[in-house]
Amino acid sequence: MSECIFCGIVGGEIPSRKVLETDSCLAFLDIFPANRGHTLVIPKRHVLDIHEADAGTYADVAATAKKVADILQSKLNSEGTTIFQMSREAGWQTVFHLHMHVIPRWSSDGLHKPWDIAPGNEAELDQVLQQITK
Ligand code: AMP
Ligand code: ZN
Repeated sequence: MSECIFCGIVGGEIPSRKVLETDSCLAFLDIFPANRGHTLVIPKRHVLDIHEADAGTYADVAATAKKVADILQSKLNSEGTTIFQMSREAGWQTVFHLHMHVIPRWSSDGLHKPWDIAPGNEAELDQVLQQITK
């Protein structure tokens, strides 16, 4: 059996509740859902994270997440959608096979952003932009 849980799901060794399958991607329900219908989208071929994925693989995952978001919105009558993609431990990734979380949202669902909303320091914003773009 594969050491990677999500490769195990692709290989059928680990059961999953499949939402959508394409040539290159699989979408299945998250078993620790943040909300009703919370779905994960993965590339079938093992790749660690956004930095290891080639642009085509990442684009396939994003395009499949868009399809899944539309399906969830129409079937579950959700009022909005939140997409998360965690990469590496510092980015909150816990399963090290690239995946996007597609989370249907309702204004009454009680979920909140995981960071505090506060204005940035102008000088720091200028400095980081310079560092990024120089
Ligand atoms: P992340 O923290 O972004 O790496 O998310 C990993 C996600 O995978 C978590 O939300 C888990 O609930 C989910 N997960 C772990 N094992 C399984 C599984 N066997 N089937 C479905 N979802 C899983
Ligand atoms: Zn894998």
